[in-house]
Amino acid sequence: MTGTETYDAVVVGASFAGLAAAGQLAGAGRVLLADREPVGAGETSACGTLLAVLERLDAGDALEQVHPEVVINVAGLRVAFDTAYPFATFDYRTLCEILAARLDGVEVAVAPFKGVEPGGALLLGDRRVRAEVVIDASGWRRVLARALGAAPADRGHLSTGVETRHHHGGRDLEFWFRPPERPDGVHWAFPAGDHVREGSASYAGKAKGLREDLAHFEHLDAFPARAVHGGWFPAHLGDPAASRAFVVGDAAGQCLPLTGEGIRPALVFGQAAGREARTVLEGTQSLGGALARYRATVERSRLAYRALEHFQDWAVRLPVPVVAPVVRGCAWGPLSRRLQAIYWAVADPDTLEVSPGTRAVTKLPGRQGVTGAAVEERRGAIDSNEEAASA
Ligand SMILES: Cc1cc2nc3c(=O)[nH]c(=O)nc-3n(C[C@H](O)[C@H](O)[C@H](O)COP(=O)(O)OP(=O)(O)OC[C@H]3O[C@@H](n4cnc5c(N)ncnc54)[C@H](O)[C@@H]3O)c2cc1C
Repeated sequence: MTGTETYDAVVVGASFAGLAAAGQLAGAGRVLLADREPVGAGETSACGTLLAVLERLDAGDALEQVHPEVVINVAGLRVAFDTAYPFATFDYRTLCEILAARLDGVEVAVAPFKGVEPGGALLLGDRRVRAEVVIDASGWRRVLARALGAAPADRGHLSTGVETRHHHGGRDLEFWFRPPERPDGVHWAFPAGDHVREGSASYAGKAKGLREDLAHFEHLDAFPARAVHGGWFPAHLGDPAASRAFVVGDAAGQCLPLTGEGIRPALVFGQAAGREARTVLEGTQSLGGALARYRATVERSRLAYRALEHFQDWAVRLPVPVVAPVVRGCAWGPLSRRLQAIYWAVADPDTLEVSPGTRAVTKLPGRQGVTGAAVEERRGAIDSNEEAASA
């Protein structure tokens, strides 16, 4: 290890939350964004989010498919939700690369976080780095926050999921809530243009048997070893600040309970933290003031998080035949609109910026179940490979 390097800000974790935070810091000083993997390499998610998120980020090239409806199957009932914001699936690597390409002047490094020295320097790979502003965007393990004294994520509030891909189509984002083989969880099928991402999750964080459940859902005996990926996601909003660190995304438990929607909060709260941190680099606010303002932004959503956490508990505990009419009731026009207004207000996608102070004006194709340029490009590549093979 060489001497200590000095930066104005260090962000640990370069997925949704880290890229969003670093994007707000670009050009404001000497900034380092460190991840244990290259940007875009560590996909764990089914990559379903609001079309508005891709629009606000001017990231239409990552779009795979727009979904007219969200469908929940429960106890034989099929309930279609007409969501105020249409959902879309997107390509993880493409979105990460779009966001990374905007990190003007930010140094992006493959360097696993290993700890914090007593003097406060961060150990990143074989480097020792010091910075006034530090941001933990390392996902549910919250490695930096823990090294600064925060508690690890509570295992009782961690869900877990696995996922695989199939080459067939589909129209809507579809869930099977508490199916017989997975009474504490959910299966899903997210069409993404030229394939469908299908997965299984346990709200109770029971990883054992998940792969087998997913195989059963797919009418398969078993999966080949490398065909499935997955991970953990939190269902409890934690403290968005740990000692002197901003904590963002899954590291702060910002994934929404019940729905497991974590991408939008990671991006929105990631940018919120980055925006406050930038004022520290610009010298217009103290670090303490910036942390307090970021915490206050997140705390405005705490009640909604708490309510969703309770709904998740009830939804898993109540007998399935009781849950089914409740789900149907929630899809009823006026109630659905009211609930959605509360839900979308948490991590409002309209706050997202392309770069500090710049709002996008992109309008992507609406609700027709369209596929995006990323898919057309892949299809083109597949077609030309097939042509070459048959020539
Ligand atoms: C199977 C599954 C499907 C999901 N599907 C969806 C979905 O469709 N829609 C949705 O909204 N949410 C979904 N989620 C939740 C969503 O994936 C997360 O909420 C989201 O990824 C959180 O983003 P993040 O940037 O906070 O953390 P992450 O995406 O987990 O990124 C953390 C980053 O930190 C890095 N890191 C970790 N440890 C270190 C270290 N020691 N040193 C350096 N870097 C480190 C990792 O490599 C990674 O790049 C899903 C989750 C799972 C498990």
